[in-house]
Amino acid sequence: MATMSELYQNVILDHNRTPRNFRQMADATGHAEGRNPLCGDQLDVWIKEDSAGKIEDVSFEGSGCAISKASASLMTQAVKGKTRDEALALFERFHALVTGRGKDQEKLGKLEVFSGVAEFPVRVKCASLSWHTLKAALERKEAVTTE
Ligand code: ZN
Repeated sequence: MATMSELYQNVILDHNRTPRNFRQMADATGHAEGRNPLCGDQLDVWIKEDSAGKIEDVSFEGSGCAISKASASLMTQAVKGKTRDEALALFERFHALVTGRGKDQEKLGKLEVFSGVAEFPVRVKCASLSWHTLKAALERKEAVTTE
């Protein structure tokens, strides 16, 4: 019987090995580059918003630790089809989760696999890098760093 943390670990390993939406986007409406110098994670996030501000498509590419890559992969799945405001609200809840401040974590779904990160402060930046980068892309900023 797998424990919860083993299940979570398997999801992270799976998304690290086979990241979803791992590609560049030629017709993106927004793009940003994120760096986490502390760990050496770096990634690019592309978004395509429709005229109503809905995130029609989102993708990423980059290199880094398993946490940063798996988090980026799950982030793309979580925000696709959402509006900018919904995506930013989700980031708030995700950030509360990984920093251990979250109380109301229902509806975070698969993103809950990162709840264990709260015990490792140095990993919080790895887990949230793709979200910071998404936010920068939504706000039309070209680059963001966790430092
Ligand atoms: Zn990292």
